[in-house]
Amino acid sequence: MAIQILSREKKSKKVDFSQFLNGVPARDYVFQSAPYEQQIREAAQLLERADAVLIGAGAGLSTAAGLNYGGKRFTDNFREFIEKYGSAYMTDMYSAGFYPFPSEEAKWGYWSKHAWLNRVEPPAMPLYQTVFELVKEKPHFVLTTNVDHQFWKAGFADENIFATQGDYGEIQCARGCHDKVYDGTGLFHRMNLTRKDCLVPTELVPRCPVCGGKMAMHLRCDQYFVEDEHWNEAAARYGAFLKEHKTDKVVLLELGVGFNTPTIIRFPFEQMVRENRDWALIRLNLDEAVVPESFGSRAVGINDDIARSLEDIRREAGGVEEKEGLSIEKAGEKDEE
Ligand SMILES: [Zn+2]
Repeated sequence: MAIQILSREKKSKKVDFSQFLNGVPARDYVFQSAPYEQQIREAAQLLERADAVLIGAGAGLSTAAGLNYGGKRFTDNFREFIEKYGSAYMTDMYSAGFYPFPSEEAKWGYWSKHAWLNRVEPPAMPLYQTVFELVKEKPHFVLTTNVDHQFWKAGFADENIFATQGDYGEIQCARGCHDKVYDGTGLFHRMNLTRKDCLVPTELVPRCPVCGGKMAMHLRCDQYFVEDEHWNEAAARYGAFLKEHKTDKVVLLELGVGFNTPTIIRFPFEQMVRENRDWALIRLNLDEAVVPESFGSRAVGINDDIARSLEDIRREAGGVEEKEGLSIEKAGEKDEE
């Protein structure tokens, strides 16, 4: 089952999508030629007609939402880290996390800042709220590799979210000696207040309450990632959602999923569309919105800024609702006369 594969997923190196053009799983990838406006209308219609919506969200969604890992947002916030560790590693928040920090004080010095900036401090980003507005009236479920907690902040219920790769707000035993994760936000707050020269005080370095060893962020970066009770419940709910809506019209709304870990969302989504003739795919991606040509009208791949296309889809879908609302109101007035 897909879920069993998920739990063994390892972070692979980023590959260019063109490497998949001549191979499995999608040998017929195309950039669709329909004009942008037509694609927006088609996407809105698919969502209108859907019985249920399955959202698949990757890093591109958070980037489009404004949680950018590079550029000025990185250099403004991590100036002292760049100066201390050098600009070769410290190019953006993704690469910086892989720096071989020489001590636990240095490791937590970095991660407490990273987690604070991307998980604790930001409110619900408007783009995530737009996603919620789009789907909240229908049965929906979110499968995401994002670890910034934005779906919860935007209003999605915990029971409708499966965040497969962890959460910046949690920590775990670095060796995964027991299947439990711990809230790290209070600790990160104290670390932020006491960090000096990129280091946290030794007394704040967390230790595993079971084996006494090192702790780590609850992120899937090695074989020690902890799949706790909550993770397993979410995985089961995801499986149940797929089963429950097997014969319904389901729209798979894929947002910002590239080719970094395509076996978690991208390829399974394509397979599900292949296997269920009433299911359709809406793929929004800044530059990798290629879709299997064989899906025909069951796929809309919009190669554009996700913030722009989602807002346009919402407006298009909302426009239909408003018109319907008006006509009902007028009918009501007539009845009164
Ligand atoms: Zn332990």
